[in-house]
Amino acid sequence: MLEKVLIANRGEIALRVLRACKELGIKTVAVYSTADRELMHLSLADETVCIGPAPGAQSYLHIPAIIAAAEVTGATAIHPGYGFLAENADFAEQVENSGFTFVGPSAAVIRMMGDKVAAKAAMIAAGVPVVPGSEGALPKDEEQALAIAREVGYPVIIKAAGGGGGRGMRVVHKEEDLIRAATLTRNEAAQFFGNPVVYLEKYLGNPRHVEIQILADGQGNAIHLGDRDCSLQRRHQKVIEEAPAPFIDEEARQRVYARCVKACIDIGYSGAGTFEFLYEDGNFYFIEMNTRIQVEHPITEMITGVDLVKEMLSIASGNKLSIKQEDIVMRGHSIECRINAEDPDNFMPSPGKVKHFHAPGGNGVRVDTHLYSGYSVPPNYDSLIGKVITWGATREESMARMRNALDEIIIDGIKTNVPLHRDLLNDKGFCKGGVNIHYLEKKLGMQ
Ligand code: ADP
Repeated sequence: MLEKVLIANRGEIALRVLRACKELGIKTVAVYSTADRELMHLSLADETVCIGPAPGAQSYLHIPAIIAAAEVTGATAIHPGYGFLAENADFAEQVENSGFTFVGPSAAVIRMMGDKVAAKAAMIAAGVPVVPGSEGALPKDEEQALAIAREVGYPVIIKAAGGGGGRGMRVVHKEEDLIRAATLTRNEAAQFFGNPVVYLEKYLGNPRHVEIQILADGQGNAIHLGDRDCSLQRRHQKVIEEAPAPFIDEEARQRVYARCVKACIDIGYSGAGTFEFLYEDGNFYFIEMNTRIQVEHPITEMITGVDLVKEMLSIASGNKLSIKQEDIVMRGHSIECRINAEDPDNFMPSPGKVKHFHAPGGNGVRVDTHLYSGYSVPPNYDSLIGKVITWGATREESMARMRNALDEIIIDGIKTNVPLHRDLLNDKGFCKGGVNIHYLEKKLGMQ
């Protein structure tokens, strides 16, 4: 097993990784910025290193500072968590070149999946269903581009190959708008992602977001751990997730699971990963792969009993997968509510001091958070301050437990989106299940 892991992240995921390391007897190094001296996991880590000032670019995104921290503490591996450098192929490469183990897939695989045109090509080769569209990049030649869009059929969406975080996308409804939209998206892509390549896809009208969790050891073994529905989104940010996704065609589901597992083996994937799909009319369409642990991983852990972070650490140590597909038995249903420090009315961030924090509890309730009474949420980072996760034998039971948990939780001193969650847990459409990716924004009057 790895000896000493440096956790290149902050907040709840840093604490989550630290707990997994401690369970496995792995020593831990926590790094932090000057804005983060109060982080809970710092007091639980074996060693701590301040890596720079508050701005992410000078601390959690500053590769030399993180590598230097690993060097001075004698860490043997680096876990990137999610966000920050988790999907940065150059970081993974520099970590490995400096003699440390990167807890995740190889830099080459991260790079390939970070280029959506390359990722899509790899998926087509592995037989994973994708959204119909341009084969590869959208040609700059106007006649060729128009012909492709005509064949795919309007509406279409133009997307940046290097895009992420819901940026660098443009929906086109009519032929006369195509060329202008392609040019605009290319310019934006060059500016934001340093890569002007764009591609074109059919724009699906009312899809759901359904994703599939996998684990692979890079030694020829891969398994899936079922799916999650993350359709409740605002500005492409997930708000509530559940596992398994309700009302999915069982045959299509089993087929896509098998294809994802095969794709992992074909591309030499290792670690935990997620295949994201749009799901419409009983069909799955691949949109992208996340080559890291995800925020919503606990709901999969709740229904499978597998500790995904411990598996990641074990795989990074060079071990083969400890679990076989037939060992994975999905039980019950799990929901996660992302708790953000934000105004529930206008969604503006609401950092500040948490005067009092009380965590909910009871049967089937899990709370992943770095909050404690007296902790100050800094204004410099993402507003996620914790996750409430419930499990139940049925979807109804997991939802009833979530309603209780949301009634019990107390976070005084800052504004949070708990009122929105309470509302959503009583929303007719959500209670019925299977709503599409536009549902929440429509409900909030944004569409
Ligand atoms: P990012 O990496 O920026 O998150 P994705 O490719 O995952 O980009 O797409 C983000 C979101 O954009 C999806 O969850 C979906 O809401 C919307 N989207 C992307 N592609 C399509 C498509 N072909 N049709 C309809 N909506 C899409």
